[in-house]
Amino acid sequence: MNLRVLVVEDEEPLRLALCDALRAEGFDVLEAADGDAGLRCALAEGPELVLLDLMLPKRDGFSVLKALRQDRLASAVIILSARGEEWDRVQGFEYGADDYVVKPFSMKELLLRIRAVMQRAEGATPGLARADAKTKIGRATVDFAAYTVEKDGERQGLSKKELDLLRYFLAHEGKAVTRDAILGAVWGADEFPTTRTIDMHVMKLRKKLEDDPEDPRLFVTVHGVGYRFARDAGGR
Ligand code: CA
Repeated sequence: MNLRVLVVEDEEPLRLALCDALRAEGFDVLEAADGDAGLRCALAEGPELVLLDLMLPKRDGFSVLKALRQDRLASAVIILSARGEEWDRVQGFEYGADDYVVKPFSMKELLLRIRAVMQRAEGATPGLARADAKTKIGRATVDFAAYTVEKDGERQGLSKKELDLLRYFLAHEGKAVTRDAILGAVWGADEFPTTRTIDMHVMKLRKKLEDDPEDPRLFVTVHGVGYRFARDAGGR
């Protein structure tokens, strides 16, 4: 599968030029012309890389980046900006940008930066080859590297917490697990979620993975205990 890049840029000629150049390099390209659309697309599609302009209509690039990093740590982000001031640069890195390219830039320079960022991203999760990162759950395929789930030809994003919770369920498949055990393992001592938080995350996983979220077969409620997970619905 090709790597997917989302281009968030409101200047149409630049956006089109970027998209063409990236397609020519073999990327699958998604595009958005404002910050709201960019954020929505990034969260829904979970692209490997986001090229993010700062001055955008509806929602500026920093706000997009901040929202992305709160939920989705996987996508690499390169900021494209006409503003080259030191403060912007620092702010960008603080919000979790992987690189910062000042306009005007040459396409050659940008492609070199992209390659470097993608290599670093791969190095950060050694052994997590894209093919190994995929696992089948029910009729869905979860991609732990891309933070996505694909079911019946539709792809949706998964948050880091949803994936952490899913990993926990996979490690305890077939056993009833208590909410307290899940809290301790997935949320840890530094955070203070309630057991409601777990229920809400399980509901989200059901919506994305179950055939019928109202009649769950993968994430089954065990009354008075917690949950029991099964990788497939088992024809029940
Ligand atoms: Ca702009």
